Amino acid sequence: MFTQDTLHQGFARGGRDAALKILAAIDPVTYGRDRSSLDGHVSRLSPYLRHGVLTLAEVRDAALTHAPRTAPSRVWKYINELSWRDYSVRVYAEVGDLIWQDFGPYKTGLPSSAYAHEFPADIGDGATGAACIDAWSRELRETGYLHNHVRMWMASYVVHHRRVWWQAGASWFITHLIDGDPSSNNLGWQWVASTWREYPYLWNRGNLLKYAGDRYCAGCPLADSGCPFDATYAALSARLFSGKEAAPGESGHLNPENLKAVPWEPPPTPEHVPGAVVWVHGDRLSITNEALAGYPESPATFVWDDELLKTWTISAKRQTFIHECVQELPVHVLRGDVATEVIRFAHVHGATTIATTPSPSPRFRDIVTALSEVGLTVQVWPEPVFGESLTPLDLRVHGDYWRQISASAFGKDPAPPKAKRPRAKKVRPTEAEKA
Ligand SMILES: Cc1cc2nc3c(=O)[nH]c(=O)nc-3n(C[C@H](O)[C@H](O)[C@H](O)COP(=O)(O)OP(=O)(O)OC[C@H]3O[C@@H](n4cnc5c(N)ncnc54)[C@H](O)[C@@H]3O)c2cc1C
Repeated sequence: MFTQDTLHQGFARGGRDAALKILAAIDPVTYGRDRSSLDGHVSRLSPYLRHGVLTLAEVRDAALTHAPRTAPSRVWKYINELSWRDYSVRVYAEVGDLIWQDFGPYKTGLPSSAYAHEFPADIGDGATGAACIDAWSRELRETGYLHNHVRMWMASYVVHHRRVWWQAGASWFITHLIDGDPSSNNLGWQWVASTWREYPYLWNRGNLLKYAGDRYCAGCPLADSGCPFDATYAALSARLFSGKEAAPGESGHLNPENLKAVPWEPPPTPEHVPGAVVWVHGDRLSITNEALAGYPESPATFVWDDELLKTWTISAKRQTFIHECVQELPVHVLRGDVATEVIRFAHVHGATTIATTPSPSPRFRDIVTALSEVGLTVQVWPEPVFGESLTPLDLRVHGDYWRQISASAFGKDPAPPKAKRPRAKKVRPTEAEKA
């Protein structure tokens, strides 16, 4: 049925029990101080959030219990980081497959055609000779997880040092990350690449030492000569780029105006109808799945998506994680073309209504269309929202979206966005941002 990974162990066991244990152990207060460090108090909840084993709203609620009602700002940074996921998913829901295209041009003075499409085998094999890069490559394959800072460092190495198309790196990550998700992943890669930002993201050895200590450099054969990261930002920039702007004639594919006024409301909760069946998919693998909760007595199914498994070649580790989540659910497990199998399942049970939960993925939309075309009614049961807004969301920039939803994200009534602080003069890349 799926490829069992005998090495699968460690932090990311699938399922709600495992997720709740990790949730109970988070330290969102210390996180605010040390999250950029590799030994910092990051929560490692991403696989569970990605697959809907936990919702953003329940993780936010858990984080708020760590701060007194009078001082929710003690967990500000953690909740703000959660909002990046909500934001990315919302952007993905709007742009669909465009998530795989350069939103804007590279701001490196180089045309998009300067970036190789093939992913270098030595990076994938962890055989570049740079101890840090090779360790992260191994860690990715062995654990299916990387710290956020490592994801940024690795993406910057792939795109800027090796001049590889960000899409190739993003696909490599999605294959191995248990939390792999075109929304957060591709936006992260575009951010590093500069196709969704005004300048490319770079790091140097000083930055690595600050946040990782000398664990990599100490044994690195390149430490004393030939370290590609041992330079100032200005020197790196001069070496790697041919300018600071987009190359002439380059443009992106995203019209930001399409992200300017996006409804924040989920679809209304549907009414229970007799005889419906439930379709559970990989974005909401929890016993608290709203469609399962709405139809506790109805037959339910989960379908391994053959086409997706073939296209993404997702790692055995990730398949194992999903399998462990599915095992906990009261579902019939099928495999094949999802729409065909769900239709068959509905027919077997004499159902004309399918209850499910939302997904931002264009593939979900296609499946819903295929179900509707054969006369099935599809009900989409929403999960609790992470943040409410008084107005449609401006998703062009995370900061603007955050100003709209932040009051509600802290469990208060939605409030009008606070006035924007005047922007400081734009400064060239430094590591401090978003790390
Ligand atoms: C190049 C690159 C690729 C990435 N790929 C993915 C991906 O495929 N899937 C994914 O879930 N995240 C991705 N991220 C975002 C982030 O790195 C991970 O969500 C985070 O490292 C997961 O670890 P954690 O659960 O310990 O996070 P914590 O720091 O504890 O944060 C808690 C939760 O907030 C959310 N979050 C935190 N930071 C971000 C962020 N920058 N963007 C979106 N959500 C965030 C995640 O759901 C995370 O689990 C990527 C970032 C970069 C730079």
